[in-house]
Amino acid sequence: MLYTVDGLVLRVQNRGENDRLITLLTANGRMNAVCHGARSLKSKMANLTQPFVYGNFEINRRSGALPWVRGGSPNEVFYGLRESVEKVFLATYICDVAADLSGENTDCSEILRLTLNTLYAIMTDMRPLPQIKAAFELRAAAISGYRPDVLHCEDCGAEGMENTYFDVMNGAIVCSSCLEKRGAGLGKGYSSVYDDVRERSVLVPLRPASLSAIRFVLYSPQEKIYSFTLAEAEDLNTFSRAGEEYLLNHLGHGFDSLDLYYSMI
Ligand SMILES: [Zn+2]
Repeated sequence: MLYTVDGLVLRVQNRGENDRLITLLTANGRMNAVCHGARSLKSKMANLTQPFVYGNFEINRRSGALPWVRGGSPNEVFYGLRESVEKVFLATYICDVAADLSGENTDCSEILRLTLNTLYAIMTDMRPLPQIKAAFELRAAAISGYRPDVLHCEDCGAEGMENTYFDVMNGAIVCSSCLEKRGAGLGKGYSSVYDDVRERSVLVPLRPASLSAIRFVLYSPQEKIYSFTLAEAEDLNTFSRAGEEYLLNHLGHGFDSLDLYYSMI
């Protein structure tokens, strides 16, 4: 069966002498496909089968064999991502997360759109990279069914608290007075409350601006999620930490591409 599909190249692996195996994210799911001879200098498909290329792929599928790419044309190659190693590693991490969160033969239209928008935001320096990264992490988690409830304190139900903590393991927020009560319930002194509770959970202290940013990213239309500014470096840092802790704790593992990104900054 021959058909065409729009897809983003998430990963590329060499295969055999001259072939490539690519992982594509399409609106209908993630798929692997072989591209014969793609590593040959003469191949017309050498440029099409590169990481971060969003293209229209002609796929040939036969039962019992891996689908193979017969041809295609690029829609967007995100060439500007290659201007810095930092951007390449961050974009690789974004694609690794998208691969992790997408399944075969399932509706992946939202995660595909989010990934494309994120690559564009990184390429064009739309916002500071840590902000783009955390917005992607939180939104990707929400799309995958792990939307945290950040509107009310999970213990007392209060909204709009001055000081809150992001309770990463429970996907919720808790206000500082409820956190103190939890500590008191353990029979410990006030001064060690935070450390004690933290030992058995992951709590990220949030100031009002970083909490607002998390809410904005989770509840705005997807194309708007980068449209905010965090003026204070501390708010950007906590927002960034919240996004990463939340996603990685829910996935249960880290990423080599993320380590490489951090090795560059
Ligand atoms: Zn509370």
